[in-house]
Amino acid sequence: MKFGTKVIHAGLEYDSKTGAIMTPIYQTSTYVQSEVGKHKGYAYSRTLNPTRDALEKNLAAIENGKYGACFASGMAAIDCVIKMLEPGDEVISSADLYGGSYRLFTTIFEQYGIKFHFVSMNDTSEIEAVINEKTKLIWVETPTNPMMNIIDINAVSKISKDNNCILAVDNTFATPYLQNPLDLGADIVMHSATKYLGGHSDVVMGALVCSNEDLAKEIYRIQNSCGAVCGPQDAFLVLRGIKTLHLRMQRHSENGKVVAHFLKNHPKVDGIYWPGFETHPNHDIAKKQMKGFGGMVSFSLKGNKLEDALDVVKKVKIFALAESLGGVESLIGHPVTMTHGAIPKEEREKTGVVDSLIRLSVGVEDVEDLIADLEQALN
Ligand SMILES: *Cc1c(COP(=O)(O)O)cnc(C)c1O
Repeated sequence: MKFGTKVIHAGLEYDSKTGAIMTPIYQTSTYVQSEVGKHKGYAYSRTLNPTRDALEKNLAAIENGKYGACFASGMAAIDCVIKMLEPGDEVISSADLYGGSYRLFTTIFEQYGIKFHFVSMNDTSEIEAVINEKTKLIWVETPTNPMMNIIDINAVSKISKDNNCILAVDNTFATPYLQNPLDLGADIVMHSATKYLGGHSDVVMGALVCSNEDLAKEIYRIQNSCGAVCGPQDAFLVLRGIKTLHLRMQRHSENGKVVAHFLKNHPKVDGIYWPGFETHPNHDIAKKQMKGFGGMVSFSLKGNKLEDALDVVKKVKIFALAESLGGVESLIGHPVTMTHGAIPKEEREKTGVVDSLIRLSVGVEDVEDLIADLEQALN
């Protein structure tokens, strides 16, 4: 099955009782047993719920994996991955990271005796410099947030395999439409389904997909034991969102390209970060491992003044000033004061997250209106 067919059909069955074409929302906590231990496969909704089950199967299929698991949020999905580790274990993570992931690693899991190394993965020699026999997990985010760096998943997977590590990739920015990390050698794919998968800014959810049975058992054990599952209503919303993922991603990518080129030529713009430019340092890898370049674009302003950036994000009218990304509507954000507040100034500036940096999640509106909006806000 090809992608556009899978998003609509994979893992889904018409309701056997009524023929309902849409997966019913099984808003139930428990299931009647005809005698002790005799049930129809469902005993309790933390463990298994038919609506969530359908979504988990669909997600597994669109990531070319075998097993899917959905969580109450993207953070809960990451939390599950780290909980597979033990005190003393080490993790190597990309340096330019979603702020919430950085916070989870450093303020929660370091207390439990897990050590995190943050390295630039532009050059895999930095991974090789810190990897050792205690390293159990490599955590990659690509494209990175908000600097849009591209990490070569296949190259990292070779190091990971050579050292018996698990490679997990946060695929939130690219989505399975643009990039399939499992095909590139990753062991686990993670998503904040809150973003493009849901796609309509109406749900918070996370997901993991893998193909290895032992890993899947461990994920389901933690999902059921810790209990950070998503509700059936949310599972329904994400199932519905995914049905148009391919259409939305095409338009996000087209609009992202137009907006990136407009900003590149604008006299007030200094740095521009979008992997589709041939001048982007990792453009070749992006071309190799992604089907398109998506709708996330970051840029900084000449003079690098915080006030100027705050002025732009205030003046836009169609772009909404908000955290998050990946919805049909265009959003604008200021990483330093919004998403990346948890990362110390010297850490973030090393990776390029400067005071005037602005991040756009380019939506699927008519792009002429988006350009006009940015034009008036910049001038
Ligand atoms: C939003 C986001 C997360 C966290 O997901 P939530 O659903 O907000 O918990 C993790 N990684 C990336 C790249 C994100 O954008």
